[in-house]
Amino acid sequence: MSFRSYITSLLSLLLVTAAVSAQAAEYELVYRATVSPDREVARVEIRLQGEKLPRRLVLHLNPERHLKLHSDAGLTLDGDRAIWKPKAPQASLHYEFVISEQKASGSYDSLLTADWAILRSDKLIPPITVSVAKGLNARAQLQFELPSGWSSAAPYANTSESKHHYEIVDPGRLLPRPKGWLILGNITSRQDIIAGVDVRVAAPAGQGERLQDTLAFLAWTLPDVKDVFPGFPDRLLVVTAGKPMWRGGLSGTRSLFMHADRPLISGNRTSSMIHELVHVATGINGGKDADWIVEGLAEYYAANILWRSGALSDLRYQQTLDWKENWARKADTLFVKRSSGPVTARAALFMHRLHLALQDPTDGAAGLDDVARELARDRGRVSLAQLKQIVHALAGAEVDVDALIADLE
Ligand SMILES: [Zn+2]
Repeated sequence: MSFRSYITSLLSLLLVTAAVSAQAAEYELVYRATVSPDREVARVEIRLQGEKLPRRLVLHLNPERHLKLHSDAGLTLDGDRAIWKPKAPQASLHYEFVISEQKASGSYDSLLTADWAILRSDKLIPPITVSVAKGLNARAQLQFELPSGWSSAAPYANTSESKHHYEIVDPGRLLPRPKGWLILGNITSRQDIIAGVDVRVAAPAGQGERLQDTLAFLAWTLPDVKDVFPGFPDRLLVVTAGKPMWRGGLSGTRSLFMHADRPLISGNRTSSMIHELVHVATGINGGKDADWIVEGLAEYYAANILWRSGALSDLRYQQTLDWKENWARKADTLFVKRSSGPVTARAALFMHRLHLALQDPTDGAAGLDDVARELARDRGRVSLAQLKQIVHALAGAEVDVDALIADLE
């Protein structure tokens, strides 16, 4: 072996060693919640274990729901922030989480009863920012300690050890954190694979009369939703319950809540279930003045997917568009902080017109699906400028977004 090849081998050996140690730099992260109907709070432990741990975690607390934080070492409280410097090889942080949350209307969007609990894991575990060495990765689990006889459903796969332990996937995040809806307790559920998506619909026991209808509705419509959004998550949990839960639909990560009294298709021939599915599919949120884009897309597809899947005839779909056009007149702008009611109708109408405008110069090759897919590509914040760029890339100067918006007046 020449000196040169010796050095080369030595170098490659060092590189391999570096790669292996970077690969091996993994630590365990366990979010463990103990829930019991005897206590109105969940007891939460965040446990880290490994030769190396993140330098610093900052938890952004909700002071009304995250209480009594404590740790053996390294914890400082600063207003609504908890700064935690964990020490290897093992460190734990504990707190209590107030499960039930009543809205001003008197209904709940998070509730613990004697038999079940419905809540969101991204509220249970607050947002956390982390300082961590490059290449140090977490293997994360969400675990529940529940009374005997209680079940759990979360939008994650079970680990092989326990049906109450879930493997957390949180792509692109330095610190994986559980997100989405949860239902715990005496529950009933139905499951199927639809268009490659592992779908589970769940309700408190005794409230599951419509689980099969809901699953069949998803079997009917989800393939068309996935056609528009091929990046649809591989897992979907739909949680439903009746009073006193909030009478609406609310999407979360890989999951959604829908009140049991809400029809799958309403009188005006739109579907709040599809509306929420589109939110799950896109994972986008509106930046400044762009909430109408997020809501407009969801509301456009809430009727369009019904038509596309054959649930509405051309005539009935046209009537729905006419109805939206009338309702949209009650709003005089798209640019509000939170789009709802007539503003969302106006935004859905814009989406419909944008679709028609794109069809013309492209001989039907481009349409709103292309715009929606592109907006959803990075699952983050969207803006009007981004929408304009996408439209420009599809149809050049022939489609003028500003003119389409102005035409809504
Ligand atoms: Zn919405």
